[in-house]
Amino acid sequence: MVDFMVPDEIKEVIASIEKFVDREIEPLKKKCHKQLENERYFYDENGVYAKEILDAMREIRMKSAKAGFYNMFGDPELGGNGDVFGPMAVALIHEALMRKYGLDPLVMEIFPGGLFTNGLTPVLLGLHPEVKDEVLPGVASGETVLCFGLSEPDAGSDVWSMKTKAVKDGDHWVINGTKQWISHAPYAKYAMIFAITDQELAKERKGGISCFLVPFDGETCANTSVIPTLGHLGGRIGIVSLDNARVHEKYIIGDLHQGFGKALEGVDIGRVVMAANCVGAAQWALNKAIDYANERKTFGVTIGNHQAVQMMLADCAMDIYSARNMLLHCAWKMENQDKLPLKEISIIKAYSTEMVQRVVDRCMQIHGGMGLTNELKLEKVWRWARSQRIPDGTTEIQKRTIARRLLKGDRNFF
Ligand SMILES: Cc1cc2nc3c(=O)[nH]c(=O)nc-3n(C[C@H](O)[C@H](O)[C@H](O)COP(=O)(O)OP(=O)(O)OC[C@H]3O[C@@H](n4cnc5c(N)ncnc54)[C@H](O)[C@@H]3O)c2cc1C
Repeated sequence: MVDFMVPDEIKEVIASIEKFVDREIEPLKKKCHKQLENERYFYDENGVYAKEILDAMREIRMKSAKAGFYNMFGDPELGGNGDVFGPMAVALIHEALMRKYGLDPLVMEIFPGGLFTNGLTPVLLGLHPEVKDEVLPGVASGETVLCFGLSEPDAGSDVWSMKTKAVKDGDHWVINGTKQWISHAPYAKYAMIFAITDQELAKERKGGISCFLVPFDGETCANTSVIPTLGHLGGRIGIVSLDNARVHEKYIIGDLHQGFGKALEGVDIGRVVMAANCVGAAQWALNKAIDYANERKTFGVTIGNHQAVQMMLADCAMDIYSARNMLLHCAWKMENQDKLPLKEISIIKAYSTEMVQRVVDRCMQIHGGMGLTNELKLEKVWRWARSQRIPDGTTEIQKRTIARRLLKGDRNFF
C-alpha cells in the first residue's frame, strides 16, 4: 500500500527533539547570543569557531547522545540505532528540523554532520578491535569529532589522482601529504586519511589506496589552516598536513590497499541528509517569503497581489514539491529494496542542492532589500545553499553517475 503520511513514531521523535531544543539549546543560544548574531565573534582570529561556540556544540552533542538522538542513525554494529531509524527517518527528521529552525549551527549539532564522515559511521566498522575500544566511546558520547580526509589540492572529483603516500616502516606506516576542504578538521580529534599504499595498483586504479585513522597531534598531523568560503570570516573546513605522521598498522581502517570501498560506505546516507536539509531549508525560506508577501505593501496592495511575486512563490512550491517527493521515494527505495538505488541517490543530491539555491534566491528577491540583509538570515542560507553543490560529489559528477546508470540499462523510475 502506498502511504504518504509521516509515521506516528517519527512525529513523536520530531516532537521530542523540539522539546530538547527548547530545553537544552535555547539557553545556550542566549548564552552565545553575541557570537551567533555577529560573525566577527563567531570565529576566532584564525577563522576557527570561537571557544564559546565550540563549547556549546560539544555540550549539545553530548546531551543529544545522552538523550538518545546523536546515535539514532548510527551503525547498529557500532552501537547506533540505524537498524530502527532508516533512510526514511533520516530524511523526515532532518527535513523537519531544517524547516523549523533553518540553518541553526547549534541545532545542527544534534546529529553528527552528514552522518558518514563523523559519528558512528559505517566507515568505522573496519577499525581494529583495540582501536574501536580506544575511539568509539568518545565518538558515541559526542565528545570526539572525526573528519574525513579524502580530497586534496589536486584530487577532488578525481580522487585517484591523490598524492598523499603512506610508506611501511616495521609495524608502522609513515604518511606524508596534504588534504584540503576537510569538514570539521579545525576541531576534530582524529582524521580518516586516505593514502596511496601501493603505487602500481593505484596507477591502474585497481586499489592501492588505504584508509588510516590518524590522531591530530598538531605537528605530524595538523590542521594548518581554515578555508573561509563565500565571504565568511572563517569556516569549518580546513587543510590537513601530514608530515611524517607515524601510525601503527592497527590504525588501518578496513583492508590494506582497499580504502575506497570504505570511503564510499555511508556516502549514500550522507546524500540523503544533504537532500533533506535542502528540502527543509527551502521550505523555511518559502515560509518567510509567503509571510512577507502577505504583509509588505507596494502600490496600495500587499505584494502577494502582484502576479510577478505569485509566479516566484509558485515556482518555489513546484521546486520543493518535486524535490521532496524525489527524496522520500529514494529513501523508501533504500529502505525497501535490496539494491542501493544509485541513480536516484545521485538524482536527489544533484536536484535538491540546485533546487534550494533557486528557491532561496527567489525568496530573497521577494524580500527586496531586506532579503540581502543579515537580519533575516536568508543570505546566510543562500550562501550555504550555494556551497552544497560541490561536496559529496559535484552536480556534474552526480549527472555523470545518472547517465552511466541509464546507459547501463537502469530505466526504472518507480
Ligand atoms: C563545503 C565543502 C565541504 C567539503 N568537505 C569535504 C570533506 O569533509 N572531506 C573531503 O575529502 N572533501 C571534502 N570536500 C571536497 C569536495 O569533495 C571536492 O571539492 C569536490 O569533490 C570537487 O572537487 P574539486 O573541488 O577539486 O573540483 P574538481 O574536481 O577540480 O572539479 C572542477 C569542476 O569540474 C567538474 N568536473 C570534474 N570532473 C568532471 C567530469 N568527469 N565530468 C564533468 N565535470 C567534471 C566539476 O563538477 C567542477 O565543476 C568539501 C568541499 C566543500 C566545498
